[in-house]
Amino acid sequence: MEEKLLDEWQERLGLQDWLITLRYNCKFEDLELDNCCGETNWEDTIKTATIKIVGEEEHGNDRIQAYDFEQILVHELLHIKFGLISFTQQDYNGMVVSELRHQLIDDLARALVMAKRGETKRKLNSIRVKDNSKKDESSKK
Ligand SMILES: [Zn+2]
Repeated sequence: MEEKLLDEWQERLGLQDWLITLRYNCKFEDLELDNCCGETNWEDTIKTATIKIVGEEEHGNDRIQAYDFEQILVHELLHIKFGLISFTQQDYNGMVVSELRHQLIDDLARALVMAKRGETKRKLNSIRVKDNSKKDESSKK
């Protein structure tokens, strides 16, 4: 299923000429970046990339954003797409631009996946939080 989604989105995003290796079900310790569910290392010149995505169990469900493999995958593929304009200067402005690009990519990834599924509302883990508060109340009684 994961490889199928990779093929599907590579085609959709016009990245068919890239050789992309996908590693899924990763642990957080497998990623170099902190606090990230996915990570991509790419080489523009030879159009190769390796994408690592953490597993659903490893991600857990106590985060505000629900685990969504497809959305993480599209986010990482967009990093490749934006690769040629992702040079980052190692100063304050460079860091701000890098954060902005990351946020922009995340918004786009979410929008694309939602469009594919015909959704208009962002999926959050808030339902689970509500369930927890119900549990708390019952245990108090
Ligand atoms: Zn990112």
